[in-house]
Amino acid sequence: MIVLQKVSKHYKKSLSKVMALDDIDLTVKNNEFVVIRGPSGSGKTTLLLTIGGMLQPTKGRLTVAGIDPYHIGSKSRLAFRAEKIGFVFQLFHLIPYLTVLENVLQPAGAVGGGSQEAFKTRAKHLLEQVKLDVRSDHFPAELSAGEKQRAAIARAMLRKPEILLADEPTGNLDPENAAGIARSLAEVHRDGCTVVVVTHGRDCDPYTGRIIHLKSGRICA
Ligand code: ADP
Ligand code: MG
Repeated sequence: MIVLQKVSKHYKKSLSKVMALDDIDLTVKNNEFVVIRGPSGSGKTTLLLTIGGMLQPTKGRLTVAGIDPYHIGSKSRLAFRAEKIGFVFQLFHLIPYLTVLENVLQPAGAVGGGSQEAFKTRAKHLLEQVKLDVRSDHFPAELSAGEKQRAAIARAMLRKPEILLADEPTGNLDPENAAGIARSLAEVHRDGCTVVVVTHGRDCDPYTGRIIHLKSGRICA
């Protein structure tokens, strides 16, 4: 479960102050599939980073999977991020000199827990699930944008996070690849994960239970 109570985030830039999030109240139940929409600059990325334990809000309280990531030590926060949260960035963030399989395995070393052999088995299973098993030994540069994004989803799922956060994962994709990503997210959701996805497209509409509209840092519908 994700609970935000009166969460605000201000960015200070020399003289000006940007209210990226303005008094957000939001509850996402376990195993919900939530879509977040809103114009550019409305605070979508800020909201995901805040939920993901990567950006401390200026005001308000939040708990994610029962933990307030900003009121624990930095080591615990690292463990929180590694164990509870999977994050898919808009621009994939794959490591160019690692193969697809090695990229997916990357979070295995982030914090302790789990044998390397078990992680490898799971990585291969995830790559089958996103239909990339035939690309395991390829490097990111050899993949299409859709394939890169599917690899990024597999990587985010390696440690069986309770929550998957995806920031415009279909942003630069053609319709066919975008539909493939939406299907991968739906599968993750079916396996029990809570999914929060920022997207402009309609690809996730068949799977989502709720669409949240952000405008100027506020939830407007
Ligand atoms: P979205 O993802 O909906 O496009 P963002 O969350 O990225 O919106 O940004 C919300 C607002 O906060 C925008 O006005 C943006 O310019 C501003 N902003 C985002 N990151 C920073 C930052 N690091 N410093 C200052 N302003 C920022
Ligand atoms: Mg954004």
